[in-house]
Amino acid sequence: MKDLIQTFGSKTKVREILYLLKDLKPVVRQGFYPHELEKVKQFCEKNNLFLELSPYKILMEGSNYSDKGTRMSKDHSQGMFFVYISKNQKQALLANLHETKQDHYNLGLALGYPECCAKFYQEQFKKGNLAPEHQNYHPLIDIRKRKTDQAIISHFPCSPNCQKSIQLALSLDSEL
Ligand SMILES: [Zn+2]
Repeated sequence: MKDLIQTFGSKTKVREILYLLKDLKPVVRQGFYPHELEKVKQFCEKNNLFLELSPYKILMEGSNYSDKGTRMSKDHSQGMFFVYISKNQKQALLANLHETKQDHYNLGLALGYPECCAKFYQEQFKKGNLAPEHQNYHPLIDIRKRKTDQAIISHFPCSPNCQKSIQLALSLDSEL
């Protein structure tokens, strides 16, 4: 686990990669700065995972867990890439394409999020709400915990008690 955290940078990212290896997630999407990429690429090669890079960079506002970012050219001196990792190259490519087109509905489905939540996020995104949080979450799906690297799920639930999200969290949580 310690080695993996050195490679991926956070507990949440490591957990997602383990879910991917156990076929609990079809694709994971994570942000990496260029200097972090080499280790991640090596890990993917070793584990027969495909890795696709966004055709742009994201300049994050504020801290690491920020949800707001500005797209820049991939040649920009700053910013991180979105990286799509999967056992299936086509699925990684498609997730990349959906996000490039800002099609958050299909991106969500590609990442294995519940359909209700993918739809919810797309609607919120269109309203400019990039981090649509609720109050009084069921503890397993409290996405606010991402700020302390403790979240189990990696999507914004459509409601504080979204049953599909709770199911997903249960299936993931029981694995680790
Ligand atoms: Zn939902």
